[in-house]
Amino acid sequence: MSASILDLLQQRAVLLDGAMGTELMRAGLGQGECPDAWNVDKPEAVKDIQRRYYEAGSDAVVTNTFGANPIKLAAYGLAQRCREINLAGARLAKEARPEGRFVGGDMGPTGKFLKPMGEYVESEFEEAFLAQAAALDEAGVDFLIIETMYDLREALCAVKACRKASPLPVFISLTFNRTPRGFFTLMGDSPSKGLKALEREGASAVGANCTLDSEAMVELVKIMRPETNLPLIAQPNAGQPDVLGKKEMTYSQGSEEFVRHMLRIIDCGAQVVGGCCGTDAATIRRLAEAIK
Ligand SMILES: [Zn+2]
Repeated sequence: MSASILDLLQQRAVLLDGAMGTELMRAGLGQGECPDAWNVDKPEAVKDIQRRYYEAGSDAVVTNTFGANPIKLAAYGLAQRCREINLAGARLAKEARPEGRFVGGDMGPTGKFLKPMGEYVESEFEEAFLAQAAALDEAGVDFLIIETMYDLREALCAVKACRKASPLPVFISLTFNRTPRGFFTLMGDSPSKGLKALEREGASAVGANCTLDSEAMVELVKIMRPETNLPLIAQPNAGQPDVLGKKEMTYSQGSEEFVRHMLRIIDCGAQVVGGCCGTDAATIRRLAEAIK
């Protein structure tokens, strides 16, 4: 049994989980409802999703705290409950975790922009991430994982805050769009610039998640791999959402196709793999079997 997820990474590729957001919607999360508040209000629904991922073969599952920083929570009037929601989130994931597996404390973007595009300055973002990271560290997660960052400047605030709040390993993935000129974040950061800056800031693993399907992510992984010596993260979506009717959201890549390209992603050097939007426990089970 590995003492740290970094020890496990020395031995083999680490399998993360699939989506939380789309799974919560499937479990009944309503439009405009705060997903992170379910840690307190519907804990069993959250824990069920996490238990299914562990059963499917995930080495690590992340907490349902993607939006649980004070700035994002303020949109729901919940900013003052940041610590409570993160502590509850970590407790649920730890309760679902079988022996020898890991819990990642999940952190996502604030949803706001830095000046000049937005109203915020970096110290305000850093303060918000510090509050969240401190709560996740206090709750005893095994590592911190920052995901779906579309602005390198914001991502650097988050890594800085994590390094201040905790001695735990910090994983971070940016989200890239594919353009005719190559892959870029929403704010125009290239993979090379992004990964190098995050490595300098003290991240333990770096990479990409969301937005792209697993086929497009193969191309991105080929570009990212030579840019860093750190373990590389790849968590693509299962294609693009097809909106069928009103309620059910399906994704365009079937799990067989998703997994086929994931194996190419691992061949190209990604060591921390999993799924983002549209993936579920069945996808992760299939991926776990294919990796073996
Ligand atoms: Zn996603």
